[in-house]
Amino acid sequence: MSDPIGGNRTFGDSIEIRTEGLGPAGKDGVRSAPRDRTRRVHVGRVPIGGGAKVAVQSMTTTMTWDVSATMDQIRRLDEAGCEIVRVAVPDEKSADALPEIVRLSPLPVVADIHFTWKLGLKAIAAGVHKVRINPGNIGGESRVQEIVAAAKDKGIPIRVGANAGSLPKEIIAKYGVHDPLGIVEAALIPIGILEKAGFEDIVVSMKASDVGLAVASYRLASKRIPYPLHIGITEAGSSKRGSIKSAVGLGMLLEEGIGDTMRVSLTADPVEEIETAFMILSAVGLRQRGPEVISCPSCGRCDIDLIGLATTVENRVKALGTKIPLKVAVMGCEVNGPGEARDADVGIAGGLHEGLIFKNGEILRKVKENMVVDELMVEVEKVLRIKEAEAARGEAGA
Ligand code: SF4
Repeated sequence: MSDPIGGNRTFGDSIEIRTEGLGPAGKDGVRSAPRDRTRRVHVGRVPIGGGAKVAVQSMTTTMTWDVSATMDQIRRLDEAGCEIVRVAVPDEKSADALPEIVRLSPLPVVADIHFTWKLGLKAIAAGVHKVRINPGNIGGESRVQEIVAAAKDKGIPIRVGANAGSLPKEIIAKYGVHDPLGIVEAALIPIGILEKAGFEDIVVSMKASDVGLAVASYRLASKRIPYPLHIGITEAGSSKRGSIKSAVGLGMLLEEGIGDTMRVSLTADPVEEIETAFMILSAVGLRQRGPEVISCPSCGRCDIDLIGLATTVENRVKALGTKIPLKVAVMGCEVNGPGEARDADVGIAGGLHEGLIFKNGEILRKVKENMVVDELMVEVEKVLRIKEAEAARGEAGA
């Protein structure tokens, strides 16, 4: 395949190792990925690539010019654990709101710009922490150079990429519309334009709504592109379907060490995107945020309303509002429950009109059914206090 970038640069030969996989998680459920091969860029205070933890981002769904509504959503995203927020900048009115949004936002702000280079310049002048552009539709090389010069001046990165739904004609002629080679080659075009302008603080995305195509494209990109990858399955769908498609696609990539920042795209409240993103990161053992409730599917040995019990525990644990990782188990029977949930910090196992409270697989006590959740929460809070003290000591020592 010819390399549209040309020159002496060889993309990504040394990145081959990133497809080796992560191996099993450690006892704390977290493992480190061989993700130190991409160039490090910074979006505000958040590092992306070069071994940084995978940063979680989302995009507001409000009219950006409506600063009050946009800030409400950004604050809710921040509380949910979002680390970078993107806002659409389709018009002057939205660009005019950016200085205030940047001033008020607790999160680094990315401006999403299409077609109008002037809006890109305005966004950069407003102090946004990254811009997402398509150099192919921003109005020619001199316009791109102006944006690059402004981004360089402010020290902010630029995100570019390719979208399977809007590939350039020449790429479609060569590869059709369903070939990862075509998507990666399409992404190399804007990368080449930025590199030609002397700019390398680049983040790259490969957008496809087909999970297999997206995964294959990112795999190929991880071998050929030395810049951090923004991973996501675009137009994934509503909550359930979109979460599953994202979990399958992003899970495979993350498991292979691919992806430096991620967005779960859902047709839903963006706060759900953050919750799903952390569930995916937790499932692949890369990041834990807050407590995780694990529960058995129940079977003929179960004598309690396990679904009701698990839902109550999930709500009570969520209401603690802690970011400290903690594993809480809700198991259906006393015979197998404590052993099956040995990895949990604390848990309950239901019996007939009673329940067992256990900790690290060891049984602490037997309690009446109507007290089982309250007693569990007593133990949860004890473990939480110990973990909080450990975390505080860790921070003080850092
Ligand atoms: Fe069945 Fe008990 Fe296992 Fe739950 S913990 S699935 S109730 S055997």
